[in-house]
Amino acid sequence: MAKMRAIQVSRAKGPFEIVEREIPRPGPEEVRIKVEACGVCHSDALVKEGLAPVSYPRIPGHEVVGRVDATGPNVERLTVGQRVGVGWHGGQCGHCDSCRRGDFFACEKGPIVTGLTRDGGYAEYMTASQDGVALVPHDLSDVEAAPLMCAGVTTFNALRNSGARGGDVVAVLGLGGLGHLGAQFAAKMGFNTVGIARGKDKEAFARQLGVKHYIDSQTQDVAAELKKLGGAKVVLATVTSGEAMSATIGGLAPNGTLLILGAADPFPVAPIQLLSRKLSVKGWYSGTSIDSQETMGFSVLTGVRSMNEEYPMDKVEDAYARMMSGKARFRVVLRMA
Ligand SMILES: [Zn+2]
Ligand SMILES: [Zn+2]
Repeated sequence: MAKMRAIQVSRAKGPFEIVEREIPRPGPEEVRIKVEACGVCHSDALVKEGLAPVSYPRIPGHEVVGRVDATGPNVERLTVGQRVGVGWHGGQCGHCDSCRRGDFFACEKGPIVTGLTRDGGYAEYMTASQDGVALVPHDLSDVEAAPLMCAGVTTFNALRNSGARGGDVVAVLGLGGLGHLGAQFAAKMGFNTVGIARGKDKEAFARQLGVKHYIDSQTQDVAAELKKLGGAKVVLATVTSGEAMSATIGGLAPNGTLLILGAADPFPVAPIQLLSRKLSVKGWYSGTSIDSQETMGFSVLTGVRSMNEEYPMDKVEDAYARMMSGKARFRVVLRMA
């Protein structure tokens, strides 16, 4: 059997181990992908730190871009040589009540989660369900496309399903790995986009991303500033601070939504605030493979790009540490080749 190099985690809080493994064979309705690049996402900590039930050893990685290298039986929509990507949502059963409603994220058999419930893209090869595979447009490089498979689709899909319409005030809370994409998408979708971050020094960068207004949460009252703009129809919350999220609720317009993408600590919400102005606090998951494909299509159309730091496969520990430090500008991507 031919071998490949892969990065696995063998136990919670264990190191990344670069190992030789047999190149996996695609099963029915699966393809094998020769991986070119894989983003390093904060959710990889679920595997690395053992924050979720994981069957070890596990190969992490759910921002995968590469080429179809082999197809298993009954693969209909993909052929060898196509450029493809795989994100967090790696497929669904297709038959349960949730799937029959089209709520694939809530698949009752448990959706396939790439790099968590099955091996992901920190390897030279991986297999994926054909349902979980997006086509990658040739205008995007491997490294450009990889973060769009999670950070990109999550922000894009949340915004386009948020109920906000062109011209509405949409605020993006946090301008890091998720937020720097969210701000670009919001601006290109035609929202009156507000960037909220800590410190006056981030304003120039926020404006480069396309925001029309900037709020420095360290020196300004975020809710009061949003109210001056008429209130936010949507606040896209990409930070990990519950307190920062809570501080925006008073700045929502009537019927406004605090749309949460960041896995923050719990925070208090005053029911009177919600009921008097019909506000919502809502979470959003990522998206399916067609959502990822449309995220990439929109990015090509409008010029939205992730800003990335690249690392070779051997430097995975450095890459992960950099991502976890919160100092990366702005996504970290591993190159396999
Ligand atoms: Zn992710
Ligand atoms: Zn299902």
